[in-house]
Amino acid sequence: MKVLVVGGGGREHALCWSLASSPLLTRLWCAPGNAGIAEVAECVPIGAEDVPALVRFARDNAADLVVAGPEAPLTLGLADACAAAGLRCFGPSAAAARLEGSKAFAREVCAAAGVPGPRWRRFDDPAAARAHIRAEGAPIVVKADGLAAGKGVVVAATVEEAEAAVADLMERRVHGAAGATVLVEECLAGEEVSFFALCDGTHAVPLAAAQDHKRVGEGDTGPNTGGMGAYSPPPVFTEALRDEVMARIVRPTLAEMARRGAPFRGVLFVGLMLTAEGPRLVEFNVRFGDPECQALMVRLRSDLLAALLAACDGELADFDLRWAPLHSLVVVMAARGYPGAYARGSEIRGLDRAARVPGVQVFHAGTARRADGALIAAGGRVLGVAATGATLREARDAAYAAVDAIDWPEGFCRRDIGWRAL
Ligand code: ATP
Repeated sequence: MKVLVVGGGGREHALCWSLASSPLLTRLWCAPGNAGIAEVAECVPIGAEDVPALVRFARDNAADLVVAGPEAPLTLGLADACAAAGLRCFGPSAAAARLEGSKAFAREVCAAAGVPGPRWRRFDDPAAARAHIRAEGAPIVVKADGLAAGKGVVVAATVEEAEAAVADLMERRVHGAAGATVLVEECLAGEEVSFFALCDGTHAVPLAAAQDHKRVGEGDTGPNTGGMGAYSPPPVFTEALRDEVMARIVRPTLAEMARRGAPFRGVLFVGLMLTAEGPRLVEFNVRFGDPECQALMVRLRSDLLAALLAACDGELADFDLRWAPLHSLVVVMAARGYPGAYARGSEIRGLDRAARVPGVQVFHAGTARRADGALIAAGGRVLGVAATGATLREARDAAYAAVDAIDWPEGFCRRDIGWRAL
C-alpha cells in the first residue's frame, strides 16, 4: 500500500509514525511534512491546500490512499477531487466537511437528528442578533458561522460583551465572510472533552477521548492557541458516556448526513460539554485534533492503515480497535511569543536524549533542517512531547523528563498539562 498523508504538523507526524508501523505499508509520502516526518516518510514539497497538485501527485505515483490531516484541504474538496480521479481518500467530501465549515449547518443537522446541544439561533441581521441577546441575557455565546481559526467564538459574560461580538463579527467583519452569519447559543457549563469516532459513511466505531489545553498560560490563562497539550483517556469520560455519545450524537448524525446525500467518512471530532444534564455537543470537527491525535496514536495498538482503509471502503461494521491499557500525555513546546509574533530559525538540541526517556515519543510540528543538518524551529508550535505510562502521573512525569532533556532556550511549554485530571 502506497499512502500520501497531507499536512505538516504534529498531528501528521503522529499519523505517519503510526502508519509506518503497518505491515500493509510499502511507501509513505507526506505533503509538505516537516523535519520529524522526514524520518518516517518521504516529504513532498506540495502545500496542504494545493488540492490539484496533491491529486496529481497521488495519481502519478499510484497512491492507494490519501489521508487528510487538517480540515482546509477537505473543505476545499480534496476528497471529491480524489474520488473524481479514482483515488481513495480518508476524509469527508466538501459537502460533509460542512459539519466543521459551517456551525449553522452543523446545528441544523443536529436539530434534524435529535442530537443534544445548547439552545441556539442563527442570525444574518445584527439588529435581530442584538435583540435576541438582550432578551436572553448573559452568559451567552456568540459565534461566527464560518471558519475563523479558533477565534470566531466569544463566550460572553455580559450582554455588552455579546453585543460587541456581534459588532466585531457581523459589522466590522474581523473574520471576513465567516461572520456574515452568526449563531447565538445558550452557554453550557461543565467539563469539556474531545471524543473521536471513525466513520465509513454508514457505520462508526469509537476511537478514544482526550482533553486538550487551549490557553497559552498555566492555569488556563492567556490567549487561545492551537493547543498546548492533551491527555487521554480523560478520567471523567466513562464507557457509559462513550456509549451514550455514540448512540445519541455520532450515529444519529451519520444517519442524517447519509439521508442528506452527504455521507460522512473520516474522523468525526465531537467536542463535548459534560453538563449536569448529560453530554451536550459543542462542535464538530471533521479531522483529528492536534495535539489530541498524538495522545491517541501512542495508545493505539491496532493497525491504523487497516482501520483507515476500512473507513474508506465502508467496512467498519465489524471493525474493532485495540488500545493499550495506558495513559498518554502530550506537552507542546512552542516558540517564545506564540500565539503572538515569534522568531524562526533557533536551533533545537537534545531530541535524542529526550527520545531515550522510556515511553516517550517526540513528534515534530514546525521544524526544519538547516543546510548543516541542525534542527531548527520553523513555526509557532514546534514539538509535541508525548509519553505513555501506567498512570497519567507516570505519563506526565515521563513527558516532562523528556521536555527537560531538550535544549531549546527559545522555546517554552506549559508545566501543568493534565492538571484537571491530576
Ligand atoms: P473556529 O471555528 O473559529 O475555529 P472553534 O471551532 O474552536 O472556532 P468552538 O469549538 O465551537 O469553535 O468553540 C470554541 C470554544 O468555545 C469551545 O471549546 C468552548 O469552550 C466554547 N464554546 C463554544 N460553544 C459554547 C457553548 N454553547 N457554551 C459554552 N461554551 C461554548
